[in-house]
Amino acid sequence: MYKILFIGPQGSGKGTQAQLVAEKFGLPIFSTGNILRQRAQVQDELGQEIKNLIDSGILAPDELVNKIIAEKIQAAGGNGYILDGYPRNLAQAEFLATKDELTHVLEIDLPEEETVRRLGGRRTCPKCQTVYHIEYNPPKIAGICDKDGERLVVRDDETEEVLKKRLAIYHELTEPIIDFYKGKGIHHKIDGRPAIEKVFEEVMKNLE
Ligand code: AMP
Repeated sequence: MYKILFIGPQGSGKGTQAQLVAEKFGLPIFSTGNILRQRAQVQDELGQEIKNLIDSGILAPDELVNKIIAEKIQAAGGNGYILDGYPRNLAQAEFLATKDELTHVLEIDLPEEETVRRLGGRRTCPKCQTVYHIEYNPPKIAGICDKDGERLVVRDDETEEVLKKRLAIYHELTEPIIDFYKGKGIHHKIDGRPAIEKVFEEVMKNLE
């Protein structure tokens, strides 16, 4: 039974690794970023509030994301899953610990210069949220999602200014939760610099 958290800075490739592991084991991915982006598309007050938060790189309120994840975990009914983008701070990690126990926390490590370089080429499908990179992980047809034929976009929160803010929040608020999981003996650190397949091999070794 796998209950895996992928953690790492923006551009580390954790979302891509989460997708690969999900396909391999048939596990659902609970990504608060994707769920919030979908909710932000609804044209109401909450949708607009969430869109403003995301576009400025600020974290959404803990109560909101905690509720989203608690519902997902309950719906999973004891089966395995992958978390991507949650928990994002210590309060969320502590909340999650009251709901369920993770089996693996896989930290995908990447130096800051490399994250900034990679993020420049990122493209996302606005419909299914699959992430590509124009150089390292291109779609079969340039600019088009392999899965649903949708035109790929650069996310509004991937401008250099917002990215810097998101990375700062990662170091300040998200990184400290790694120590929380080290204390539980379920943390594994993986070098995110190699090609996607190589990183995936390392991920799989750590899941054996
Ligand atoms: P991501 O795609 O995971 O980088 O998330 C995009 C944005 O959604 C973040 O910059 C936050 O504004 C929001 N978000 C995603 N996950 C969380 C979370 N666990 N807690 C708070 N805000 C979140």
